[in-house]
Amino acid sequence: MAETNTTRRNVLKLGASLPAAAAALPIALRSEDAEAKTPKKQAQYQETPKNGQKCTGCQFWIETDGEMGKCRIVKGKIHPNGWCALYAAA
Ligand code: SF4
Repeated sequence: MAETNTTRRNVLKLGASLPAAAAALPIALRSEDAEAKTPKKQAQYQETPKNGQKCTGCQFWIETDGEMGKCRIVKGKIHPNGWCALYAAA
């Protein structure tokens, strides 16, 4: 019986801690909503590669039909040869 109460208590504690854990995730990674994305200036975005790194080699790159692409974590249209400080190799 005591073990059941302990288990229930642990489940309640876990449930209470999940919203806090979700809030700790970077906003940009929780949603593709444009408002949740990082502004270009804050990401130090530039439309040229840096040290051989460019958006098309980044795990956040989103290919589009047009000349410009998109990014999962940075706002706006993104140049395929662009780069920002949030770059992460694909
Ligand atoms: S380098 Fe920056 S802007 Fe380019 S795809 Fe990666 S995260 Fe997005």
